[in-house]
Amino acid sequence: MSWSQVQQPEDLYDQMTILVGSAIRMLGGEAGVFVVSNEAFDPQSSAEYTSYNFESASLNQFVAALQNWSQPTPAHPAIVEVMPADLVTSLGLCYDEFENGYTPFERCSLFLHDHAGLLGTLHYARRTGTPLIFNADAEHSAMPGLFVTYLSAALRSALKAQSLQKEQRRLATIFQQSAEGILTVDTALRIIDFNPAMEHLTGWRESDVLGRFYHEVLRPKDRQGNELGLIGSPILQAFAGQMVVNREMVIVARDGNRFDVAVTASCVRTATGEPMSGILTIRDVTSEHEQEEQRSTFISVISHELQTPIAIIKGYASTLARTDSSLAPDVLRPRLQAIEEEADRLNKLVGNLLYASRIQAGGLQMEIAPLDLEVLIDGVARRLRARSPGFQITLDIPPNLPAVMGDRDRIEEVLQNLLDNAVKYSPKRRELKIDCRATGEEVIVSVSDAGMGISLREQERIFDRFHRVEDRLTRSRPGAGLGLYICRAIIEAHGGKIWVQSTLHEGSTFSFSLPREERAQLPMVVF
Ligand code: ADP
Repeated sequence: MSWSQVQQPEDLYDQMTILVGSAIRMLGGEAGVFVVSNEAFDPQSSAEYTSYNFESASLNQFVAALQNWSQPTPAHPAIVEVMPADLVTSLGLCYDEFENGYTPFERCSLFLHDHAGLLGTLHYARRTGTPLIFNADAEHSAMPGLFVTYLSAALRSALKAQSLQKEQRRLATIFQQSAEGILTVDTALRIIDFNPAMEHLTGWRESDVLGRFYHEVLRPKDRQGNELGLIGSPILQAFAGQMVVNREMVIVARDGNRFDVAVTASCVRTATGEPMSGILTIRDVTSEHEQEEQRSTFISVISHELQTPIAIIKGYASTLARTDSSLAPDVLRPRLQAIEEEADRLNKLVGNLLYASRIQAGGLQMEIAPLDLEVLIDGVARRLRARSPGFQITLDIPPNLPAVMGDRDRIEEVLQNLLDNAVKYSPKRRELKIDCRATGEEVIVSVSDAGMGISLREQERIFDRFHRVEDRLTRSRPGAGLGLYICRAIIEAHGGKIWVQSTLHEGSTFSFSLPREERAQLPMVVF
């Protein structure tokens, strides 16, 4: 039976009800309750009652009255006392259909225990003078010992079954709700249980994998991609008594995707120590690895990006500071210019870092107002022509381009960033184009270059923080992989989108959309 099909416990509760009911009837009682001793079964749980022949309101009254009654003890295992008349009446016990009047009742409390210890107390209400199958209110020695022994044995096994069932349900809930994947196997390594987190992780449904060999389903590999085989199987190692805790490996999902996991294996053994089943707990560590990678990329990119301009500034500054050198103005100027450029580069990097941390903290503030994109693009293009005279820059802006809603400075930053990238990553064909087009809802601006292009795989990641394409040309260009991340945050905060279409070695087109002024439903300040 798999954990997902745990039995419902109702039938076990019925067993207890039948047992308690028959005991009370045999003792001549009309209604009553068996109170389990907490110490005996589950010290954490509150007292548990199995009642017989009481409506729930009467049961509550009876149980409340119990608190004030003297309780039987091992030394005095049976107590019989006349019940107060008002209690008998309010419990609805008093009506006698033959004599049509009040009948006195007595409460009997019987302490139950067996060789293993305490079980609980049986409290019941009995008409005074009821002829008994046997006399329970006599001294313990006079009570038919066999009855108490059988009743106690039956109650103990019913209670045991109930508490096992509770335990099973608790474990089943942990198994079902666990965020970590859990699977169990038999000694032949065939899957017996497969929890929902495992289903989510691997794409397999439990019904597809029950009875299959676990290594055929997960196809575990080491981090280098080598098949683990049976020798390296974490479950077999756990069967052999080895500790397997958080071992990193790779497993393959149903769709063929591989991902990094940390696996803990353990073995359930019989009383004689033989392996009975194996449990594998699997945690997806892909995002942990990605974060680690991002952290180390961040450190290497940032240190490289800081070191280069600092080295250049330092080099030129120390030349200029040498008292013995008096440099002619035409020698001096390019050096001072280089210092200025590198200081600008540093300034931009620090600005981008601050910008990125503000985006992360959700503190990007924008003032959004109607914006004429044509004017903005003209201005940016003019400056770019002045800065990069070797580039051929074409504009394609339709007449009467509708205004959009945007923060002027931020949109200019986005455009500037896309153009800087187009220039930076176009080593040979130095042409770029900016075009705009309006749709019913928005205006789309595209920046196209005929540069190095970006592979499909990389296109998915270049908008991530600190991501730079791994190649020589990119590495030779300054940058910290923050520009596109910032662009995306700005455009998305406007309710627009940004995307790329690119062919490797042919060129790229970066586009972004902004809502048209008359369609925008934006607040004027966006955080
Ligand atoms: P940076 O340019 O500072 O590295 P970006 O976030 O602006 O950071 O760009 C991320 C990466 O995307 C770049 O490192 C580069 O690899 C790639 N990329 C961006 N724009 C282009 C482009 N026009 N052509 C080719 N690759 C590009």
